[in-house]
Amino acid sequence: MGDLLQKTTLPGTFPGLAQAVNGVALAYLDNAATTHMPLAVLEAMREFEITSRANIHRGVHTLSQRATDAYERARGDLKRFIGAGPSHELVFTSGTTEAINLVAHGLSDRAGGPSYLRPRDEIIVSGLEHHANLVPWQQAARRSGATLRILRPDAQGRLHPDELARLLTPRTMVFAVTACANATGERPPYEDLLALAREAGALTVLDAAQAAAHEMPRLAGLACDFMAFSGHKMYGPMGIGALAGARKSLDRLAPLRLGGDMVDWVTEQEASFAELPARLEGGTPNVAGAVGMAAAAAFIDGIGRTAIDVHLRALRAHAVAGLSALDGVTVLAPHAEQSAIVSFVAEGAHPHDLGTLLDESGIAVRTGHHCAQPLLEHLGTGPTTRASFALYNTHDDVERLVAGVAHALEVLR
Ligand SMILES: *Cc1c(COP(=O)(O)O)cnc(C)c1O
Repeated sequence: MGDLLQKTTLPGTFPGLAQAVNGVALAYLDNAATTHMPLAVLEAMREFEITSRANIHRGVHTLSQRATDAYERARGDLKRFIGAGPSHELVFTSGTTEAINLVAHGLSDRAGGPSYLRPRDEIIVSGLEHHANLVPWQQAARRSGATLRILRPDAQGRLHPDELARLLTPRTMVFAVTACANATGERPPYEDLLALAREAGALTVLDAAQAAAHEMPRLAGLACDFMAFSGHKMYGPMGIGALAGARKSLDRLAPLRLGGDMVDWVTEQEASFAELPARLEGGTPNVAGAVGMAAAAAFIDGIGRTAIDVHLRALRAHAVAGLSALDGVTVLAPHAEQSAIVSFVAEGAHPHDLGTLLDESGIAVRTGHHCAQPLLEHLGTGPTTRASFALYNTHDDVERLVAGVAHALEVLR
């Protein structure tokens, strides 16, 4: 089975992966938590810091203009990367969490006049969500007096459009769903779900954190008002992400960060806010992060999203087959082909112990609830062990994972 990057080119492209852990070559399989950065991304950020570091938008001097250009170029590049149309805008945030908080807060905050969400309105959130796409909606419901409803997955962890159709009412104002469940690897039919919700008159929110690195949705082709994603899950830096969406929907949001750069004029008692995207980007932004995130997008497109997607599906299929064949191992969402995540439980082996033993063999996986406690409770699995793949992973990594789990099970049982 072929790999995407050859072992020989790996150290030059991803130096962080070419190290030994516990005396063994690292097999990094925790990419759903964060991916490694290629040198090209590090170089772009270094170049920015050395040649153009200055605060943006406020200076007439040359470095400030260079920094502003770099920041706005990154915004434009990322808009193209996600297939934004002329009616879309992209706001930089610190990541997916801040992006969704910006939406949930912005629709329920009354600081700028009546909030979009009112008492007895309804918010529907899918039951597959990362806490980042659930907890902000719990608070938005509390703040506004709206009701939070959950679109529950079936026993296999799948979402069904007809279930959503039953939940939608004329009072449904928001529907939020993930493009891929980080805890199970489930890839819901989010295109259909978003379209149904929009048809019913709701604003739609897509958590694209797990899709950004390979299956990045084309924003202009979706019935999506708000889409959130993070740089560090698509080979970019930590602490940068984006909220993209329809300009008219972003315009509805009350700003979360009030201060410099987001105002038009200010008196002692009042302020008027600037236009998008500045209105939602108060304070000094992470400019090097934005530059790095755009470089990561260019890196992904240099390899090709289709090629990456094909490779990740092959790695997942390989891992699902290998792990399912082990005695007492159950893979969650085995049907989810279009995914880079394999989450599993093993009879008689606690995920924490399994993960510790795998680490001793240089294999990095994540264990626990993966910030999705309600989902794992609903599925009745409790904590799981999760391996997640990126473009640099190889079929040899998968073989090592399966052998490592088999060995750990012998030790633990
Ligand atoms: C990681 C993740 C988040 C949170 O992203 P941050 O970068 O930590 O803000 C939200 N949703 C999903 C599906 C994720 O995988």
